[in-house]
Amino acid sequence: MVKEMGFYDTLGVQANATLDELKKAYRKLALKYHPDKNPTEGEKFKQISQAYEVLSDPQKREIYDRGGEKALKEGGTGGGGGGGGFASPMDIFDFFFGGGSRMQRERKGKNMVHQITVSLEELYNGATRKLAVQKNCICERCEGRGSRKGAAQVCMSCHGTGMQVRVHQLLPGMVQQVSTVCSSCQGQGQRISHKDRCKACGGRKILRQKKILEVHIDKGMKDGQKIVFHGEGDQEPGLEPGDIIIVLDLREHSLFTRRGSDLVMSMELQLVEALCGFKRPVQTLDNRTLFVTSHPGELIKPEDTKCILNEGMPIYRRPFEKGLLVIHFSVVFPPANFLPKNRLKDLKRYLPEKTAAEEPESMDEDLYIYAELEDCDLESRRRHRRQYYYMEEEDYASTGGVQCQTS
Ligand SMILES: [Zn+2]
Ligand SMILES: [Zn+2]
Repeated sequence: MVKEMGFYDTLGVQANATLDELKKAYRKLALKYHPDKNPTEGEKFKQISQAYEVLSDPQKREIYDRGGEKALKEGGTGGGGGGGGFASPMDIFDFFFGGGSRMQRERKGKNMVHQITVSLEELYNGATRKLAVQKNCICERCEGRGSRKGAAQVCMSCHGTGMQVRVHQLLPGMVQQVSTVCSSCQGQGQRISHKDRCKACGGRKILRQKKILEVHIDKGMKDGQKIVFHGEGDQEPGLEPGDIIIVLDLREHSLFTRRGSDLVMSMELQLVEALCGFKRPVQTLDNRTLFVTSHPGELIKPEDTKCILNEGMPIYRRPFEKGLLVIHFSVVFPPANFLPKNRLKDLKRYLPEKTAAEEPESMDEDLYIYAELEDCDLESRRRHRRQYYYMEEEDYASTGGVQCQTS
């Protein structure tokens, strides 16, 4: 039993969610609420990150399941634990999407994460998708200087450091030093007079540009898989450009569900097909028609599972190998009274004989009661109970007592 559902609800998963389910839920929500895409949803982004941070860590999840958020804040069972501090949502996001450590990030421009929705057919056959992205590029005209060569002058206010130090006197003899970004040059450390500014970028050194990326989806890739374009992220002067990370998001298929390298489908058979054999066409993901055929004499029981070799998903990077196509069968029985009573005995002749004893030869009325089968769904049970109540309330004796009479 889980004490609180809060973190589970935040991610929209059940309390028994697996790590894979948690990852998938986090991936979808984090991309949706990332401040780059949804600047007003910072709080939501933070909550998603915290929920994921706790639930994806088996130790923290156990503490949370037992004692809720309060137990986490108290640092669990006192075994170190580190108290209730959370990592920054951005760190969790970067770690999850492969943005590298904070150290790397400082020398590198920002990574960009994009999600593209793909069909199961695309993952089966492979595909190329074009994606238009907006990114910051260093201005080619001024090569990122923001001005003509040599036109930039060192800022006199901060002497090129980009920072200003102000000294406040708090009390006589007690001063406080405060460093702030230089207001004259906005931290650039240099000043460029208006007439020298680069006409292309207006002195900003970077330009917003549209770029078309060709995303190659290889056979056998899976939901959540990342495709990284190294160095294609935002450019900034003096920094190594970041990466563009494409995350695949699988759209559900109407017939097949993917399970690892297998494809799973269900098939409904009529009773006659289950007993006498069948041949059913199935459209594959590469548009072939597969005739699923039973062996002669084979019989399919309800809930049977069978498989077809080599008709599952291609294996990533070994696309000539494929998994299984797994088929779960269900059997539809004919409707009630599908045969007139006098013909049932013909059918009976072909079916295996009954094993249970039939009616005893002499019926002792006190010992044998015919018990009729009724539908057992809750609705009818409620209805029946209501009927019995009425019978008790009204004149029970006058209805003649028990319903199933023995004579
Ligand atoms: Zn300055
Ligand atoms: Zn420029």
